[in-house]
This record gives sequence, C-alpha cells and structure tokens, in this order.
Amino acid sequence: MTSTTHNEPPSGWVDPEPSPLLLLLGQASDTGSERGVDCPGALPAPSDPDLVARATRAKEALGGRVFVLGHHYQRDEVVAFADVTGDSFKLAREAAARPEAEFIVFCGVHFMAESADILTGDHQKVVLPDLAAGCSMADMAGIDQVEDAWRTLEEVGIADSTIPVTYMNSTAAIKAFTGRNRGTICTSSNAETSLKWAFEQGERVLFLPDQHLGRNTAVMKLGLSLDDCVVFDPRKPGGGVTPERLRDARMILWRGHCSVHGRFTPQNVDDVRERIPGVNVIVHPECRNEVAVKADAIGSTEGIIKTIAAAEPGSAWAVGTELNLVKRLASQFPDKRISFLDKTVCYCSTMNRIDLPHFTWAMESLAEGRLVNQITVDPDTAHWARVALDRMLALPGA
Ligand code: SF4
Repeated sequence: MTSTTHNEPPSGWVDPEPSPLLLLLGQASDTGSERGVDCPGALPAPSDPDLVARATRAKEALGGRVFVLGHHYQRDEVVAFADVTGDSFKLAREAAARPEAEFIVFCGVHFMAESADILTGDHQKVVLPDLAAGCSMADMAGIDQVEDAWRTLEEVGIADSTIPVTYMNSTAAIKAFTGRNRGTICTSSNAETSLKWAFEQGERVLFLPDQHLGRNTAVMKLGLSLDDCVVFDPRKPGGGVTPERLRDARMILWRGHCSVHGRFTPQNVDDVRERIPGVNVIVHPECRNEVAVKADAIGSTEGIIKTIAAAEPGSAWAVGTELNLVKRLASQFPDKRISFLDKTVCYCSTMNRIDLPHFTWAMESLAEGRLVNQITVDPDTAHWARVALDRMLALPGA
C-alpha cells in the first residue's frame, strides 16, 4: 500500500476561489456519455465518521483478492487506500501485473477501467466505485462519429494514407477502431514516439480525441507547423474542413479537449509570472498550444511529478494540471513553492465522483460477496483495442 495519507496543504498554500459552474459539474448524469448513469445500492452517508474504519476493515477482509488502483487526480481520501498510484496507462499495466487479484478496484474514470479490463485476465473483475465517473474528453469522440469521419476520409480518397493515433483517454470502442485501421494508441508520455511511428506508416495522422495533445506534439516536438494541422469537427458536415485542406493536412485533429486542462489560458501564465517572480511554469500537454508555448516546461502527469520531485529546494513552480494532484505535490514537497496555475478551482469533476462513500460501498459489497459496478469490454472490441495497445507497447521506450 502506498504511504499516502490525508495530507493537509502546507501553510503557504492558497486555495483557488470556487467557481459556481464547476461546483455544479458532476452532479448530473448524462445518458449519452461513455459512463453509466447511476450507482446502485445504498451508499453510506458522507458524514459517517466510521467510513475510514469501514473501508479499512473491508480491504483487510478482502486481503490479496483485491488490488486498488488510484489515479493521481483522485481525492486524498481515496488515494489513501490505493495499493498503487499512477497515470491511466501505468495503472492499467499495474493491474495486468497482478493476475492473482480477483478484483481490481479502479479509482479513476470509466475509460481507464475499460483499459484495465482489456489488459487483465478473464478471471479478474474490474470495478469502478461510481459508474458516473466518466471523462468529458472521451465523451467527445463517439464511435458513430468517428466512423462517419473515417467515411469522409474515404470519400476524399485519403483514408488509405491516414493512420489513426488515439490517446489513452478514449473509449474502448475508439481504441478498437484504431486497431482495425492500422493505428496505435499513445499516452501523454509517448505521443511523440507514436506520431513518429505513424508518419512512417502513412502520409498523415487522424489524432483522437484530444486536439491539444495532438497539436502540441506535432508542432512542438515534431516541428510541423500550425498550418499542417486541421481540426475535424464531428458536428459539421465533412468535419467543417474542405477536401483540399484534408488532403493537404499532416495532422487531422479531432475536435476534443479536456475540460480541466483546456481551461488554462495564456493570461494565467502572465498573471502567475507577475505574482511570483522567477516562477517556473509547467503544464500538461492537454493544455492549449497558446498556453504550452508560454510555459517553461511541458510534462505528462508522471513527467510533472518527476520534474517537481527533482527541482531545487526553494524553487517556485506554477503547475497547470488537475488540482488534487497539485495540492498533493504542494504537501509532499514543502521545501518548494508550488502553486496552481489558475486562480479558480479546477478539479476533474468526474474523477471527483469517486469519494469515500462510493469507495467504502464498493469495498464492503465485494467483501460481502456482491460484485458491483463491474466494467467489461466485449471480446471483439477488447481484441481490436488490444491490437492497438500492443502496437504502442512495441514502440521503442514504451
Ligand atoms: S482530467 Fe480531463 S482527460 Fe482526465 S478524466 Fe478528467 S476530463 Fe478526462
């Protein structure tokens, strides 16, 4: 079990101001999304003072039968129970490396639990403590939309020379589409390697579903120009792009984004530099290109953690990623001055749906012999998604 505990932010930490809109987010359910719509069963009250003890007892009762994964963006109250923490791909691999665990309790979002189900054995059951924990970015690329887009590329005569590259943050159906169409998956850590591989296989890339990761990697790592990139909007006929522009493009970027990282603005960078002289700005590559080019460094979730851990004591950092992680970094590295890049709250509302009551309910249910909230991927989808994932794993350094 990790040694993470319920950390208090250090004395210098200033909580961002709450935004009413963000506080509202995550309280509704969306039947059109990749995630479920409700959580069956009687949840314990959040005010129950015994929740930590109850979850601890359930975990002890399950022993080696359960393995708990905690994404870096999860709340501290949940991360405290994680056997391992990490980003989505690291967690899926950790799950695959534990064939003895009957239950994988995934404290993250729906697409991550799907990936864990794809990579783990048939005898293992992946559980998501709240079925409504989805990902707004993954929701922005529905399989019907992507298949329509591919038909557009066929009509324009470029599907044969286009390679799909799909970010981990996507549904299993989109990963399977990628596998069927000679493409690969990427993470925010290996997007450059995946894109280089794709450009050796074809003339252009269809990058799904995060336009910002695709653009930042193509322009800042591979030296393509902004003009080489076009944005395909699935809500517009032909993606809102002329056939000529599609044929000329090197990167066809799906019009999707992360609602957390997409909020950061160039003004945030200017403001924090004024507020904290000498501050180093580090942002996630899901941030907009205008923000990324103003930052001092870009890092995947794991990359940000490593950079901050290795930074000089006394150095100041403004971090553009999810707030739970930034607060945890501020607690773990009190010798560095760590701030959040924005001044308003920027939690991932769907990640935050996994809270102590849901976790306790899921663990107690398993301990009592009730399998709840299992996430499964049908065999055909899992097969083709695995093909795409295996192509990524075969890349150098993956
Ligand atoms: S932080 Fe962004 S990409 Fe990650 S789960 Fe939340 S909405 Fe999805």
